[in-house]
Amino acid sequence: MKAGLIGLGAMGLGMARNLTKAGLLSAVYNRTESKARDLADELKVNAYTDPAELAQAVDVVLICISADQDVLSVVTAIAPSIKPGTIVIDMSTVSSDTALQAAAILAERQAEFLDAPVSGGVEGAKNGTLVTMVGGEADALTRVRPVLDAMTKRIVHMGPVGMGQATKAVNQIMCAGISQAVTEALAFGRAQGLPMDKVVDVISGGASGNWFLEHRGLTMAQGTFAPGFKLALHHKDLKICQHMAEQTGLAIPLSDKTVKDYEQLMAQGFGDEDISALYRLKRGRE
Ligand code: NAP
Repeated sequence: MKAGLIGLGAMGLGMARNLTKAGLLSAVYNRTESKARDLADELKVNAYTDPAELAQAVDVVLICISADQDVLSVVTAIAPSIKPGTIVIDMSTVSSDTALQAAAILAERQAEFLDAPVSGGVEGAKNGTLVTMVGGEADALTRVRPVLDAMTKRIVHMGPVGMGQATKAVNQIMCAGISQAVTEALAFGRAQGLPMDKVVDVISGGASGNWFLEHRGLTMAQGTFAPGFKLALHHKDLKICQHMAEQTGLAIPLSDKTVKDYEQLMAQGFGDEDISALYRLKRGRE
């Protein structure tokens, strides 16, 4: 089975390397062509300058790019010439509506679609330990399981197309609450004059321990916020969550607050920093 990957950002790079280790990657495409050329040289795979040409050359097309419109434009570009029977897996975080639209565009060409957003951060992408929540036909998932296995430690089929993204929205709402709690608590610890390396160490081992504290606690306490997960991307996800919540009349106040906080940080030019940059607002003036 030949797989091609579209999108070599913070997540796509690690995914590509793990697919290569499993002998499954044959092609890459990236909007900024130099990134695709450099990685193709390293991994000895083909770099394409047109996503439609990549799609024609493989059995499975993986997409991991920024936002809803980006995914729809790539799917629209590859659909006219895609081979019937090709399976397109979108691992980006977008809305369930976008997943349904992408599936409909591809169905006209007898190609299948799975929404398979991931959790686990750039570390998970690098180490092949991502978790993925999949929407789409169970049969299609069975066929592409070796491809997903190469990048993930856990694959859960959630139901029809869109259910993977709906599950990822649950994850993003939880992530907002966790980052609010961790950044606020660490800013408090710092104001108490505590040794923050010891705070992160001891709390990580107890009942309040969590991935974000363990992986971002020390760096944020040191005032460094390299991505990671760009806060502008989490802002995009939470806007999707707000829209979905509105449709069911549910309040998500922690996410609403996080959206406002991110907008403040983005206005100050910190949109490309990791979500742990929320700590900037909590710690107050330096
Ligand atoms: P990133 O580092 O910002 O990379 C974004 C990638 O998307 C780049 O390869 C970019 O190409 C490409 N892209 C953007 N717009 C495009 C378009 N219109 N057409 C073609 N390619 C386009 O982002 P990332 O962190 O890898 O995240 C990718 C997706 O995974 C996002 O949906 C994000 O929400 C999700 N995600 C991220 C994390 C994380 O921890 N980072 C975790 C889980 C899920 P260029 O190189 O040309 O800019």
